[in-house]
Amino acid sequence: MTMPDAPLRLTLDTAVLTDNWRALDRLSGAARAGAAVKADAYGLGAARVVTALAGAGCSDFFVAHMAEAEPLLALTDPGSIAVLHGPRTMRDAAFARDAGIRPVINSLYQAALWRDAGGGPCDLMVDSGINRLGLSLSELSDPLIAGLQIDALLSHLASAEEDTPMNRQQCERWNQARRLVAHRRGSLANSAGIMLGPDFHGDLTRPGIALYGGVPCGALGDVIRQVARPEAAIMQVRQVEAGAAIGYNSTFVAPQTMKVGVISLGYADGYLRSWSGKGAMLSGDARLPVLGRVSMDMTVIDLTAAPHLAEGDWVTADYALPQAAAISGLSQYELLTTLGRRFPR
Ligand SMILES: *Cc1c(COP(=O)(O)O)cnc(C)c1O
Repeated sequence: MTMPDAPLRLTLDTAVLTDNWRALDRLSGAARAGAAVKADAYGLGAARVVTALAGAGCSDFFVAHMAEAEPLLALTDPGSIAVLHGPRTMRDAAFARDAGIRPVINSLYQAALWRDAGGGPCDLMVDSGINRLGLSLSELSDPLIAGLQIDALLSHLASAEEDTPMNRQQCERWNQARRLVAHRRGSLANSAGIMLGPDFHGDLTRPGIALYGGVPCGALGDVIRQVARPEAAIMQVRQVEAGAAIGYNSTFVAPQTMKVGVISLGYADGYLRSWSGKGAMLSGDARLPVLGRVSMDMTVIDLTAAPHLAEGDWVTADYALPQAAAISGLSQYELLTTLGRRFPR
């Protein structure tokens, strides 16, 4: 059977992705950089991201849910996959053991599950102040912890992109934990944490957003380049007369006769309504502003700067993450992870 054509594309520049990883690996000093690939590699497609990064030499991948590990098993050494949320049930623990992946143990309950499933190499998350997942320092003396075979001893920074005394405090608590528990490698820094310097590097860093073109702190601005670009097909071109309104609730009224394009990209695709009247598509050097409201499945753009564009042509969303976040009010993380399922990956 002939398959239909998708009117959306999410291009991934794997050469820039691997360049970003190599740059973060270099900035990690004596530590190696891993990669956070949770939530389908921040929405970009974990299979293609892991394949590219493993090819570049990355050998530690972090997912959140246990089920996110399964599609990656054939793409990389299972021992290089760590599951941040850890085992929630005995079935989870059995899956992790059978697959040979590393669950991150976040609580004494999870430590007991892992022991009962037969155990093996795992990571350990210690809470150093974010008060999300992880064991407290006082729990580390529990005999259950001494029985674990810990590869990476992790903690996670709450405000790595800010200059705050909390970073130093968290680093000290992580070092305290490292003195209390036997482990092979220490790991603290996310993307922004890498820029806090060698004290934060340990043996393994865990960048996520910066791999994908996000710039969480100014120091990464010159290093990180854009990786992902949403693209949409023009479905219809029309002439709008002066005084005519465009889209729901008529929030845009044409000041003069205009040529506009209707593209197959809407809020159901993660191009949220916060782009209404603010976003733009690109075609070569031309900038094509969004006119009026973004709808569920379509958006209208101004074709004045590229009047040759016609039905069937493609345009690219202006989606450089730091600037896009400032314009839309969405975070750089949300800009990627909300991109919808209608984008083929
Ligand atoms: C998501 C995540 C990361 C990556 O963070 P970025 O800010 O995207 O670099 C690292 N470590 C843990 C525990 C995470 O949950």
